[in-house]
Amino acid sequence: MITAYVGLGANLGDLRRTLETALADLADVRGVQIDGVSSAWRSAPVDSDGPDYLNAVARVRTDLPPLTLLAALQAIEARHGRERPYRNAPRTLDLDLLLYGDQTVDLDRLVVPHPRLHLRAFVLRPLLELNPALDAPDLGALADFLPATADQVLQRDAQPLRLPHPDA
Ligand code: ATP
Ligand code: CA
Ligand code: CA
Repeated sequence: MITAYVGLGANLGDLRRTLETALADLADVRGVQIDGVSSAWRSAPVDSDGPDYLNAVARVRTDLPPLTLLAALQAIEARHGRERPYRNAPRTLDLDLLLYGDQTVDLDRLVVPHPRLHLRAFVLRPLLELNPALDAPDLGALADFLPATADQVLQRDAQPLRLPHPDA
């Protein structure tokens, strides 16, 4: 089993509900178990227009190969009615494969570690909540990248995301 980290983001519709439904969908994928969920973090969009984002990170244990896991994430996005009318358009749900064990992947369809994860406070803060000592291949200790993102305004939601029931 591999420990992987999945980034979740929503900025259209009922944000909290979208993230919680996506977590339930993720838990339903055969070969994927949710092993931890960060707080929900609210931020203003950076390279994207539209309303605020709500982001979170899930730690999963999986025996799916990385491309299979990506396909599962994309199927969940599709189920949430995601469209890509133009680059960085607002979207109902975005699922990114941030880390896959200590492995690197460098394909057109999949780059792991996610190439921008160390630049984004809305990814780093929830990742470090789940594991303050987290290391990423090629990057090293992720905590070292936090100071450079200090200007990115983020708010941690006090209300935890509702975890899908383990037997559901
Ligand atoms: P960003 O990657 O900067 O967060 P985005 O999430 O808005 O941008 P998308 O439109 O969701 O980008 O994805 C574009 C493509 O990125 C997808 O078709 C997918 O194949 C590819 N991709 C490459 N690496 C990854 C990854 N680690 N996780 C998810 N998708 C990836
Ligand atoms: Ca993304
Ligand atoms: Ca994406």
